[in-house]
Amino acid sequence: MATPTIKQIRKFVDRYHVTDGRKFRLKDIRPDDTHGLKSEFKDEAKELLARGVDWLEEEQERLYAQDRWGVLLIFQAMDAAGKDGTIEHVISGVDPQGTQVYSFKAPSSEDLDHDFLWRCMKALPERGRIGIFNRSYYEEVLVVRVHEEYLRRQKIPPKLITKRVWKERYEDIRAFERYLARNGFLILKFFLHVSRKEQKKRFLERLDQPEKNWKFSSKDAKERQYWDQYMEAYEQMIRNTAAPHAPWFVVPADNKWFTRLVVAAAIVEELDKLNLKFPKVDDAMRKELAAARRMLLKA
Ligand code: ATP
Ligand code: MG
Repeated sequence: MATPTIKQIRKFVDRYHVTDGRKFRLKDIRPDDTHGLKSEFKDEAKELLARGVDWLEEEQERLYAQDRWGVLLIFQAMDAAGKDGTIEHVISGVDPQGTQVYSFKAPSSEDLDHDFLWRCMKALPERGRIGIFNRSYYEEVLVVRVHEEYLRRQKIPPKLITKRVWKERYEDIRAFERYLARNGFLILKFFLHVSRKEQKKRFLERLDQPEKNWKFSSKDAKERQYWDQYMEAYEQMIRNTAAPHAPWFVVPADNKWFTRLVVAAAIVEELDKLNLKFPKVDDAMRKELAAARRMLLKA
């Protein structure tokens, strides 16, 4: 199979790409959507994914050589939506030195001694690299919104917690992302949208297959009772924080092969837009290289 063109790639991405959240409705994207592709297409999708991954590897080399732009990929999802596997597959071809993956769990007491962006700011990628956040500051408007007692546990002065608190958090996140974008950081955000039914199936597999037992947590199963509140929080998050410079990709996640393909395609497409090039060797540099060659040959 030939390397896919940007046009072919784009058709897997466009309908899940949210740059203006005002009209966004979660119900418009079905978790089991596969863009009309049947599961017979699975092998071809794998092939296409492999091409996408190769392409990404090349883009990453240019990103690194150029050392101007940085990339931040954010992954958010319900448990068992396939975040870990997607991250693993998509960056599998990329030089490990060019990527940094951070997983954000419940905040530590040191984290809670700071503002909510602090722990993520410390983990931001450098220029020339791809930073990956497995969960992120978006948990602050997801799990913390669904369980307001977590907000009370944060050491924020009580008089600053008003009913505007979520609006303020969206505003702060928007300002932060705008700031990063203005500094040359490309931000791509992925919500892997799994259905409640598929999540149940995956949890049951974790229980039924001994080699998957370690992945199961009864806390995750309990969290299912808050499903509707989570979906509402995700929808509000996307409505309030999607922007052209920091888009959300709402990726159907009931079929892993499709999820991975869409995520890889989205990253390839957005990196392609940066038009990354290897730095040009100018005359001064060429002279320096020639001098180095002469020196090497003499010694
Ligand atoms: P896996 O379960 O696949 O190992 P995970 O990302 O689900 O990966 P967990 O150890 O389950 O990892 O920890 C993540 C938990 O931490 C989630 O329940 C998440 O909602 C919670 N969490 C993350 N950030 C925050 C936060 N800022 N405040 C409160 N809870 C948070
Ligand atoms: Mg978990």
